[in-house]
Amino acid sequence: MLACATKHLRRNGTAHAQALHLVQSRRRQLLTLAIETSCDDTSVAVLEKRDNVSPLGHTYTFPSTCALHFHEKITANNSDYGGVHPIKSLESHQENLALLINRAISALPNAPNSNGDNPSDPSRTLTLYPPYQTPIHKLKPDFISVTRGPGMRSSLATGLDTAKGLSTAWQIPLLAVNHMQAHALTPRLVSALTSPPPLNPPFPFLTLLISGGHTLLLHSKSLTSHPLLATTTDIALGDCIDKIARHLLPPPLLSTTKGTMYGPLLERFAFPTSPPEYNYTAPTTRAQEIARITSERWGWSLVPPLAETRSGSKSRSMEFTFSGLESAVKRICEWKGKEMGEEERRELARESMRLAFEHLASRVGWALNNLEEKAEGVKTLVVSGGVASNGFLRHILHAFLTARGYPHLNLIFPPVDLCTDNAAMIAWTGMEMWEAGWESELSIRGLRKWSLDSENESGSGEGGILGVGGWKKRS
Ligand code: AMP
Ligand code: ZN
Repeated sequence: MLACATKHLRRNGTAHAQALHLVQSRRRQLLTLAIETSCDDTSVAVLEKRDNVSPLGHTYTFPSTCALHFHEKITANNSDYGGVHPIKSLESHQENLALLINRAISALPNAPNSNGDNPSDPSRTLTLYPPYQTPIHKLKPDFISVTRGPGMRSSLATGLDTAKGLSTAWQIPLLAVNHMQAHALTPRLVSALTSPPPLNPPFPFLTLLISGGHTLLLHSKSLTSHPLLATTTDIALGDCIDKIARHLLPPPLLSTTKGTMYGPLLERFAFPTSPPEYNYTAPTTRAQEIARITSERWGWSLVPPLAETRSGSKSRSMEFTFSGLESAVKRICEWKGKEMGEEERRELARESMRLAFEHLASRVGWALNNLEEKAEGVKTLVVSGGVASNGFLRHILHAFLTARGYPHLNLIFPPVDLCTDNAAMIAWTGMEMWEAGWESELSIRGLRKWSLDSENESGSGEGGILGVGGWKKRS
């Protein structure tokens, strides 16, 4: 961003160079170092945000307002456990977090007069002393961002305690954010990194969060208001996909992945050609959508989630369920055993993914319809979380919602590395919360559960981003 401006100003002579100096020294800038350790990923980021309007009143149209100076992630190797193991993950955070932070500190932007004897603003400077070299002055972050919850208690504590240590040592504020809010805000981070203002999407929008631990449909109304429209009553979609992959994929193929994230393997196995051949036609009626799928060739059938319940009453409820589908695939695999060839496995992989994704799409369609009836219509659906990177899911959502009367819905899928757990989204959420005037008390503890929904509080004190203690408003 600044490099771009520098090039432009160099071309236009000394007067411009002076102007650049003024802009560099006087444009307001925010810098945060962020830590994410809620599950099995240890991630650290350094994010900088600049105002696009100079104090002289000129608007500088830089391509973006944000720069990600550092972003790295290390995932615990949980492959021996068939799922995320809390102690294995904790050990991975303990081994890797400090190393990542060390690298992040080296990547902080240089302070003005970075190699001189004295930094121009010591209160905003960290000085590094590389062996046998002159000291380097780095810009000190304005605050530390960290995930407070939801997540595994011990994993959260590693990140939070380290963040408190940095905050007290550097004498800068702490901003402890909600991990799910961060997933929901990820497209706004992408917008800030790639385009000039305004941020896209503006509120309100729908957020579909589909990860290894969560399946949530949210009405993202504002920075801190994300009422829950639907959630899973059993396992998360990512968990369902990982289990289906374990039932269906040959063990040598499964062992090519470190960890338990089998979704990408299942997708590649189901659609081996490039480009993939989906051959998909969306159901146009609810009757088509809940019809049982029968494979004449292989002799098995699958029932769409919630299509058949004993009373029939649940078929239209605003909730997700995936464990029935997973058990059905497991039963078919056990029944067929070694007899089941690759072609049949591929078909079962495709059909089970199709049913899971159409189940999601049907609830999104109803939510759009309900909001429209209440004159609260939204124009954008943000799809985030690890499963959002699945190409078949993207194809189905688009085709299904078009067939149901939403051809103009703006579907946003953040890039894959920002869809899975990462510290850049924590840094961005820290920025947005900071700009709204919030910071965190140093006495806060991690929250294993932390609902995003302030409108349906359970009375357990867990409801809503601001519904938990530990926030303070800057004067
Ligand atoms: P997260 O919990 O957000 O880090 O996402 C991890 C989950 O996303 C795991 O369950 C993965 O198997 C799943 N996932 C990642 N990529 C894909 C993909 N291409 N297709 C389906 N699931 C995926
Ligand atoms: Zn997550």
